[in-house]
Amino acid sequence: MKNYAKLLMVSTVFAVSLNAQTKDQMVKSIMDETYQNSQLETLAYELMDEIGPRLVGTPKMQQAHDWAVKRFQNWGIEAQNEQWGEWKAWERGPSSIEMVAPYAKSIEGMQLAWSPATSAKGLTADVVMLPVFTNKQEFNAWLPKVKGKLVMVSQYQASGRPEYNWKEYATPESFEKMKTESAAASEAWRKSIAATGETSKTLNEKLEKAGAAGIVSSYWSRGFGVNKIFSAGTKTIPVVDISLEDYGQLYRMIQHGKTPKLKINAQSKGKGTVPTFNTVAVIKGSEKPEEYVILSAHLDSWDGGTGATDNGTGTITMMEVARILKKNYPNPKRTIVVGLWGSEEQGLNG
Ligand SMILES: [Zn+2]
Repeated sequence: MKNYAKLLMVSTVFAVSLNAQTKDQMVKSIMDETYQNSQLETLAYELMDEIGPRLVGTPKMQQAHDWAVKRFQNWGIEAQNEQWGEWKAWERGPSSIEMVAPYAKSIEGMQLAWSPATSAKGLTADVVMLPVFTNKQEFNAWLPKVKGKLVMVSQYQASGRPEYNWKEYATPESFEKMKTESAAASEAWRKSIAATGETSKTLNEKLEKAGAAGIVSSYWSRGFGVNKIFSAGTKTIPVVDISLEDYGQLYRMIQHGKTPKLKINAQSKGKGTVPTFNTVAVIKGSEKPEEYVILSAHLDSWDGGTGATDNGTGTITMMEVARILKKNYPNPKRTIVVGLWGSEEQGLNG
């Protein structure tokens, strides 16, 4: 009995150390592949620079799905695009914004996602600023004035410096003063919009119905020179977002009684709906194929940028993990599924 126990112990220790050894080798081979043969930069280039923005319902999104499937298949991983719902079809074309009065100047900006197009010649109109309202009656009384005009609908920002930069260079007193004034201005703007009975989402539609020629926003991201490019929310008139500095200049001209004029040319295509997809890749489990380990990220993005951080980096990380596992650990016990979801940004459609 004693001997048997001893023998068992020896063999167990042997098995454990052998197991640990192969495990160590496995971990080492995974680490080596990760650090010495990383494909992340190539994947990042292909997805974010070459394909670029991945707005749901656009040809770019479809291109990204097809690219991902091909990539997985090239690594010997089974993958396909599975349809999940549909979305409105749209394709961004070029857009440009020029100030044509009181003098000529190119404005930094672009059309928002799903913005209706202008004619090929573009449209030229006077610019008006959404006033400050204290109640809905005031708003309704003002509304007819937007007819044929380009309406500025965002809060005026007195400074485009991010808070951290103010903090670094200001005296403590002027930093506090700036913060207090900035918070008060935001609160006053919020109250004024609330007084109209509209939200920033429904306002554009309301202005469109009242006959506005187009809408100009400036949705500052609170960093140097960065704005958010979300959706237009109109059916026939274009919506463009312009930089904080250009917006501020137009605002100050209007405050001083001038009427700046903008020429907007926004081109886009798209009619009806298109099917939307999730890309799903699978490495089958060898012992417990019915149990799953899921790796996922969302493949879609908004289309004002290249969707690098939201969520391009997540996408390529999941793909790289799958590639490295397939190469170094091709027969996992459980099934590994990689889901690159088709439409996180539009409310989890997929
Ligand atoms: Zn996201």
